[in-house]
Amino acid sequence: MNLIFLGQQGAGKGTFAQYISEKKGYVQIGAGDLLRAEINAESETGKKVKEIINAGKLVSDEIIAELVAKKIEKEKNKGIILDGFPRTLKQAELLEGILEKLNLKIKAVINFSVSDEITFERIGGRLNCKNCGKVFHKKFLPPKEEGKCDECGGDLITRDDDKREAIKQRLEAYKEQTKPLINFYKEKGLLKEFNAEPIFEELKPDFEKLIEEIENK
Ligand code: AMP
Repeated sequence: MNLIFLGQQGAGKGTFAQYISEKKGYVQIGAGDLLRAEINAESETGKKVKEIINAGKLVSDEIIAELVAKKIEKEKNKGIILDGFPRTLKQAELLEGILEKLNLKIKAVINFSVSDEITFERIGGRLNCKNCGKVFHKKFLPPKEEGKCDECGGDLITRDDDKREAIKQRLEAYKEQTKPLINFYKEKGLLKEFNAEPIFEELKPDFEKLIEEIENK
């Protein structure tokens, strides 16, 4: 079963994807993680996208589609959760082509919704492991040892694009370019709405119920 997770920054797409992947063996494909891996590796693609990402803008549809396509092809025998891709209508169209070629289908698209205030609060406190990408939060999900990843011991950092000005820019990009995808998938009968305003711990049972409903459909 393959899923798409939609939602503005701070809605918890990545956290929900990480949780359910660990629990049920799905493979989380995080578009931002793929891009950050290119930056860390100092590849040609990484050099091209670094400034764009730090400014909170979207990288080109072709670049991200190519990275995601490679990863989907590698993981195609497992259930996939696309987290952060597609983010534009053009990417949604490119995704249709990628899936068709591999004979894969999307079973559902979950739209995680939150207010802008929650976005600022959640993203402002976020910490990322520099080494493995695991996500923590100063207030809501602190690591056991300050500044260190529970999983691999790597250093925890605040991403440049998690600073306030960049968050504003990312919200604008979301409203202009990503929001239209909600209707796109609604019209295809794939959309499931999920109110992600309460804290993660409170939402776990409802989220698991939703995943089971989709699995059993
Ligand atoms: P994320 O970790 O999903 O918040 O993504 C971090 C940044 O990577 C975004 O602000 C964009 O600059 C870039 N990015 C991630 N996914 C995409 C995408 N699907 N299309 C274009 N840019 C993306």
